[in-house]
Amino acid sequence: MGEKLPEDLASLSELDEKSLLEVLTGRFTQNLIYTYIGDILVAINPFKYLSIYEKEVSVSLKSLPPHIFAVADRAYQSMLGRLATGPKNQCIVISGESGAGKTESTKLLLRHIMELCKANSQLEQQILQVNPLLEAFGNAQTVMNDNSSRFGKYIQLRFQNSSVKGAKINEYLLEKSRVVHQDEGEQNFHIFYFMLAGISMEDKEIYGLLDPTRYRFGKEDVVHAWRLKYAEVCNAMDMVGFEEQEKVDMMTILAGILSLGNIAFETTDSDALKVSEASRGWLKATAGQFGVQEEDLLKSLTCTTSVTRGEAIQRLHNQQQAEDARDSIAKVAYGRVFGWIVSKINELLAPKVDCDVELSEIGILDIFGFENFAVNRFEQLCINLANEQLQYFFNHVRLFSLSAWKTFTHARFVPLFQDLFLTKPIGILSLLDEQSAFPQATDRDFVDKLNSKFKTAPNFEVVRNHTPLFTIVHYAGKVQYNASGFLEKNRDTIPANIRELFINSVTPLLSVLFAATISRTGTLMPRKAKHSLAVLMEKMFAAGPHFVRCIKPNRSKQPDQLDSKLVMDQLRYNGLMETIRIRRDGFSWRPKFREFAERSFGLFSFSCMSILNSTQLSGWKCGSSRLFFKYWHQEELSRLLERLGRAALVIQKNYRV
Ligand code: ADP
Ligand code: MG
Repeated sequence: MGEKLPEDLASLSELDEKSLLEVLTGRFTQNLIYTYIGDILVAINPFKYLSIYEKEVSVSLKSLPPHIFAVADRAYQSMLGRLATGPKNQCIVISGESGAGKTESTKLLLRHIMELCKANSQLEQQILQVNPLLEAFGNAQTVMNDNSSRFGKYIQLRFQNSSVKGAKINEYLLEKSRVVHQDEGEQNFHIFYFMLAGISMEDKEIYGLLDPTRYRFGKEDVVHAWRLKYAEVCNAMDMVGFEEQEKVDMMTILAGILSLGNIAFETTDSDALKVSEASRGWLKATAGQFGVQEEDLLKSLTCTTSVTRGEAIQRLHNQQQAEDARDSIAKVAYGRVFGWIVSKINELLAPKVDCDVELSEIGILDIFGFENFAVNRFEQLCINLANEQLQYFFNHVRLFSLSAWKTFTHARFVPLFQDLFLTKPIGILSLLDEQSAFPQATDRDFVDKLNSKFKTAPNFEVVRNHTPLFTIVHYAGKVQYNASGFLEKNRDTIPANIRELFINSVTPLLSVLFAATISRTGTLMPRKAKHSLAVLMEKMFAAGPHFVRCIKPNRSKQPDQLDSKLVMDQLRYNGLMETIRIRRDGFSWRPKFREFAERSFGLFSFSCMSILNSTQLSGWKCGSSRLFFKYWHQEELSRLLERLGRAALVIQKNYRV
């Protein structure tokens, strides 16, 4: 074993980037992937199996060094009010770039919380099966990560006192475009491969599936592992409580999406558009799988119908438009299926308690990190906006205690960036909404509007180019966005003829998914993204926060390799350097007298003050209405309380004797 390295970086007397990196690297080489910076857990992805998650480890947690299970424990104990103070509801925010280990951390947290609360086995199994299910439909192999989540999620566990009663999931911004297009070295959503590999001959017939090599969406080699995964997904669906017919409908729709992707178009001599000869069979198959009339499907691919003054006007598509229509049907159908799975899970896992029972909550947020690609589109804008908000939340929660935070006016602390994005009526997203409402407006018009409104804003840069580009200076760096397609994606409307096509489907699941008033519980369309994020933020501000910062040690997904520059960049992006400084200097916990006395001791203020004075607790201060503590006092105090609790017990026993 090497030298003993500190477990909490905030305890170092001297802390600069160099020493920070040194300690993290030193620990990493000893397989110590977790380190605290105050109460923030830094987790470096080991890219290999470590024996630190075995059952024996998780039960003897009390003596554990920094560990993801300890975060779970702290959240759980805080929710139960067993730690000194704070709100009941808790949220754990996990951040980091793609492949840093966010989703694995989420799973470990879930698993450990289930163990802590000794969940009844059926509900526990249901909750634990949610992840494999969501991953099959929402994850894919990318260049960065072989099992990359292509959606963000907020999992809320609901408790009555100490026992879990149910769960709810919110999903954010599923990358639907992956269904129709994958870049070099990337794949479609896992489920397509699993299904093609795992389905039995008999089921193939039911779903109308052909040999895997026949589909544009799934040309990869079919491997044994996928077959097992398919069985796992089916099992997960059974456990969570999906019905047989629902499963069949869903798989048939997926099969339909595969067939649809094979439909090609060609122009005839007379310039009209038709489905290529080779594609006729696919058209028929798709219609069958979607449960719609073949000619209706063909129509929705080859022309757009609009109604003007009560008169239906048909406009024929050119080849590109027909291909776009095909792809948008696939995207819409897949997005709806995914949204349906989530809302079905929420229905099945809803707490079964009387409505007047008060439930408390632990939420876990696993959402994509900051992205900056060669070309950045609407999706990146939404993701980066979400990260910008999270960073804002993180900085300010770290700066002020929650109670103090609420008393600050937003206006004073809302950073410029926030103004740029959200302020009505002229924030970027408001402008986007405004432009999207004009049917004739173009992406260029939108960028022109941005340029004229924000040309002097410090976080915005005008780009002179014939492509509609603009640049935003994010907290993590400059990102240039290409606004092509922004308006359409923001509108996210389904053309009337496509909706009608599906509403008339004989497959009950499809017609329900497209019915006009479909409840989109749990589903987020881009247009709604900022509103749902706002709701999420509101929830988070009212909860006790816990932070896990995931770090990717190298780009090649190798164990035992740490690229210092890559790690340093992430520490900066994560705002960790900044955090260390703030934590060491400031009083981060500032409870009011009464709140402190009641929650910590169940005592009146004066007696609790005399207890505090009689302890070794030092460095805290007493203000006119609040106490001022440094962050480490919270731990010390809970240890103290535990001892006091024991003392109280002893006294009681003596008394009885
Ligand atoms: P993210 O969600 O941040 O994109 P993942 O959680 O999917 O990243 O992790 C990427 C990969 O890294 C996983 O598939 C796994 O192989 C590996 N990994 C992540 N965390 C751990 C861990 N704690 N122990 C071992 N391997 C891990
Ligand atoms: Mg992930």
